[in-house]
Amino acid sequence: MSAPDRDMSLQVPSLPKGRYSSLCSDDEQLDDDESTLWQDEVGSLKGSVYLPKSGRLSQAAKEDSSQLAAVIKMGWLDKNPPQGALYYQRRWVKLDVDYLRYFDNDKDVYSKGIISTAFISNVSSVGELKFDVVTTNRTFIFRAETEAERNDWVTALQDCTRGRQLRNTMSPGSPLAPDYKGYLELRGIRSKLYTVVALDKVFLYKNIEDYRIGVGITSIEMNVGNVKETDRRTFDLTTPYRIFSFIAESEQLREQWVDAMRDAIGEALSNSEVADRIWAEPSNSFCADCGAPKPEWAAINLCVVVCKRCAGEHRGLGPSISKVRSLKMDRKVWTEELIQVFLLLGNERVNSFWAANVPPSEALTPSSCSEERRRFITNKYRQGKYRKYHPLYGNQRELNNALCINVQCSDVLETLSLIFCGADVNCSTGMASCPTPLSLANAHSQLLQAELISHNLNTELPRSEVGGDMEALHYLPQPCVSHNGFLYKTASMARAITERKSKEEFSRRWCTLNDGTFSYYESDKNSNPNGALKASEIVCLAVDAPEKHGYDHTFELYSESERLYLFGTDDPGSHKEWVKSIAKSFIPASAEPLLRLGFERIGRLKCKDGLNLQTSKVGWFALVDSTLHAYLADSHGEEIHLRKLNELSIQQDNEVLVLVERGRTLYIEGERKLDFAGWCAAIQAAAGRGGDTLSQQQLTETDIPVIVHSCIGYITQCGLASEGIYRKSGVNSRVAALCDRFRQDARSLRLREGEHQVDDVSTTLKRFFRDLEEGLFTSEDASNWLSTAAIQDESTKLSKYQVLLERLPRVNKATLQALINHLYCVQRFSELNQMNLHNLAIVFGPTLFQTDGKDYTAGRAIEDLIQYYTLIFEVDEQQLKKQLEEITVIIKVREKLSVKFPSTEPGGHFICTVYLEEKKDTAEQHVKIPGSMTAAELTCEVLNRRNIPVKDKDYWSCWEVCDKEEMERPLHYQERVLPILHSFGTDSHLLIKKHLAMDMMVLYLGNKADASKHGNMKFREERSILGLGLSSGSFHDRYFILNSSSLRMYKEIRSNRAEREWPVKNLKVYLGIKKKLRPPTCWGLTVVYESKKQEKAEKQQWYLCCDTQSEMREWFATFLSIQHDGDVWPQDGLKQVQANRELTTDTRHGNVSLIPLRGSENEMRNSVAAFSQDPLALFRDVR
Ligand SMILES: [Zn+2]
Repeated sequence: MSAPDRDMSLQVPSLPKGRYSSLCSDDEQLDDDESTLWQDEVGSLKGSVYLPKSGRLSQAAKEDSSQLAAVIKMGWLDKNPPQGALYYQRRWVKLDVDYLRYFDNDKDVYSKGIISTAFISNVSSVGELKFDVVTTNRTFIFRAETEAERNDWVTALQDCTRGRQLRNTMSPGSPLAPDYKGYLELRGIRSKLYTVVALDKVFLYKNIEDYRIGVGITSIEMNVGNVKETDRRTFDLTTPYRIFSFIAESEQLREQWVDAMRDAIGEALSNSEVADRIWAEPSNSFCADCGAPKPEWAAINLCVVVCKRCAGEHRGLGPSISKVRSLKMDRKVWTEELIQVFLLLGNERVNSFWAANVPPSEALTPSSCSEERRRFITNKYRQGKYRKYHPLYGNQRELNNALCINVQCSDVLETLSLIFCGADVNCSTGMASCPTPLSLANAHSQLLQAELISHNLNTELPRSEVGGDMEALHYLPQPCVSHNGFLYKTASMARAITERKSKEEFSRRWCTLNDGTFSYYESDKNSNPNGALKASEIVCLAVDAPEKHGYDHTFELYSESERLYLFGTDDPGSHKEWVKSIAKSFIPASAEPLLRLGFERIGRLKCKDGLNLQTSKVGWFALVDSTLHAYLADSHGEEIHLRKLNELSIQQDNEVLVLVERGRTLYIEGERKLDFAGWCAAIQAAAGRGGDTLSQQQLTETDIPVIVHSCIGYITQCGLASEGIYRKSGVNSRVAALCDRFRQDARSLRLREGEHQVDDVSTTLKRFFRDLEEGLFTSEDASNWLSTAAIQDESTKLSKYQVLLERLPRVNKATLQALINHLYCVQRFSELNQMNLHNLAIVFGPTLFQTDGKDYTAGRAIEDLIQYYTLIFEVDEQQLKKQLEEITVIIKVREKLSVKFPSTEPGGHFICTVYLEEKKDTAEQHVKIPGSMTAAELTCEVLNRRNIPVKDKDYWSCWEVCDKEEMERPLHYQERVLPILHSFGTDSHLLIKKHLAMDMMVLYLGNKADASKHGNMKFREERSILGLGLSSGSFHDRYFILNSSSLRMYKEIRSNRAEREWPVKNLKVYLGIKKKLRPPTCWGLTVVYESKKQEKAEKQQWYLCCDTQSEMREWFATFLSIQHDGDVWPQDGLKQVQANRELTTDTRHGNVSLIPLRGSENEMRNSVAAFSQDPLALFRDVR
């Protein structure tokens, strides 16, 4: 839009040329014929004063300039003539929220009559096709052409006049507070008109009485007006449609009128330049949030036009969520592009995203109070509660991708949806020429896309708040589902169903699902239900296995009030239909994908997970085979593979189900006993359920059945030197018992030396493969494997094996590789165990191919697989070599132990992996750690091996690094390394690197008379949640005093009494705080307090945050100095240590016990835990 002329001698805003010129000619004609025209019209219609014929315009021109308020309804009606004349007059009638107007015809801009809806006291149907519009003292009668049309008018009128009667008394006589009013003569009309200037309009009334009852002739929108004095007492109000020539009573009054009307034009233009254009999109003329008409504000990043009251609440959200601008006053922000974005989108389309799921009970109306507005607007924009979820929601990469693609086209609504469903507007497009979506949009000349993005570069995305109101209410159920039919029902109960229900226990009931209520009736003739369950009360739906009860197909409904309802039918189709419909009635739209699954159980549970343990959230779950599908309150769908869980347990007196997956832990809470017990049983069964095929087993993270993994691990640790391993049979009863235990819950069974025999375990493994349904090589392909074994040409054969290998299902392939790797190792030690390649193949051929073993074909295949193991499986030879070396060490250690067992070497030493500067394979050193070794000695050992010279002030140190906790600690140079190793978790390692801050610390300490420090730090405690030692709480300012004996914490500097006190020597101080705790600064310390006084060792962990790096360094230095009596670094540096080391023995590994260098995290943890208590446990307690 061109820059508007804001001079007060206002011009008619420029209009398209064609339209304007035709108006000019109209106007000229009016000027010429003015007097006669007016005389005629008035004369012919006594009593009814109305305006002369107005200029005629195309529909569009009228809509955008004269009728700013959105038209609710318009059409032709017959109107009764005033004062009882006989004939109805055909009128074009328009209704908007403020006025009912009628025109001579549908082309007119200025009405013959205008009735303020605020003064309409009643609207009712009367007689045939007619209806009454009643105002204070006049009744207008209209007649429609059809009954339907009449009813439509009545409804529309009633809708916009309802509740308005009050206003009659509030502001008598005026629809608006007038700025100027009085009688004015309009040239061409005999009597004077009562004229009112109000805001941006001029109203004409026949007389003051009519003004008072809200019944006028017309209103003139001043946004298209121009006022010009013509003579002493006369002035013209020119609009594109007509010129109104007024005659004031005096020159002085004329001046006042002119001023008032010019003010109105100013008012109109300030309003309307932007607003007019924005409102041209019809849905923009109602507030996007409450529906109030003529909203004058907009949230420019959210693309909604809102009313003043809603804008206030938007402002309350802060500009990072809603950027509120006025259509009227913030002219600068309204670029052509931004206006186009608002026209293109419009409140209606935008709300199809923002308000896709608004429960009717939460929707706002123009009369909603601020409290309601605040809640709704917060829900809508801050939390995105009602938004329409993008199909890619939750998949960050895909969202970003989609955004980059979409900004190149014109679909701005899609971009809005992507942005507010989580696409990162600042993501990288991967293109050097246009690195961001914004530049990409610009490069493709998508200016509207660019405009939208540019207003959202720093927008905070909708985020469901974790708070107390995470209730079921939060979710909108699916659109109403209805279904009915006969089902068989037992009496509802308050406990789980444990026994089979025979057909006799069921009664036939007519069941209906309607309007969110599931009801059952004595019969389909009854109108009063025997019972009913609101969909919102249903918390779980469980589908029973067929034939569990007398009726073949049954399902259970669990209610919020802990009742269980059992329904059945013999018709599988009907059963399926009911399950689908009922699930649909109570599962919210946000978890809708669950409905598409073939679940055996679906419902709502409260849960917590690692990121937020303070508050529970509502989650929607469906159990399908061994996968738990979940939609948690603030996230997208996810899958939990129950058979791959690291741990599954019920804690807190059966009130919490704990699912530990790789990388996270989910706590499902038993909000209600009955359905929770059902879930626990079903989840446990699904997790432990060892089916008969390979993929139905509990699996490790690498997709190997736990039973296979356990057996192989045990044999590797304890059985490689056992003569005739895998050939000798175990004791049948013990093998059967082992198989059974594995089948029940493989994960819970730990094989232990002493408790389990090598031959029992090896036989168990063989039996598992022999009994496996489908077999390891699958029933389709087994014969192909066997025929391949017969191929003569070696390279043809090997490539055929590789093809077959690739065809195996994932689990089969991983299992086969693990097994063949194991057998490869077994035969490498055939000197000890007498099981060479051939012997193993004889045993495993028939076992794995499930043949009778009468010919050697199966054996040949296995022999090939073992012999060509590295080729077929493309094994990294280095890896394999390392593995064999480890096994050698294990075997040697066992030999030594078998001599010395059960006595242990006091202070025995260990081999440990130490890294240099960085944790990576190439920086790895295996060092034998004698009990006496200090950190400085270890440091020198590693530097020596790498031939790294030690310079002064290099401050090489040994660090204890905890990967997961994101913290590290330089060991004091005299600290013994071995106890540190024993206290390690598996996610910790030792690292040799320079202590860069040591120089500064030594300097700082050197300048202090004594080691002490006091000051403020931010403190956070690790509090136990669920008794599981998980952290909660937040950081608070505290005042600390650290002196030679203790660290004391005060609430504030003036406090007399310390809140807490710890002995300094029992504190272990780490640099760094895990990010998950959201430390307020990046200079944090993690402090571990271990009290050894009591019988029961107590361990606490808490966090301190400093404002600056130097602050942190000073605190750390002070701790160090106090704990080591001022001796923080060796006097002569590391050189002396080095010299001393050279005198001691070689530390390369020899006959020593071993900390396992590899293995799954859990194994490591278990073995390390066992190890630190009893070094020999490692060898007795192998999984
Ligand atoms: Zn509003």
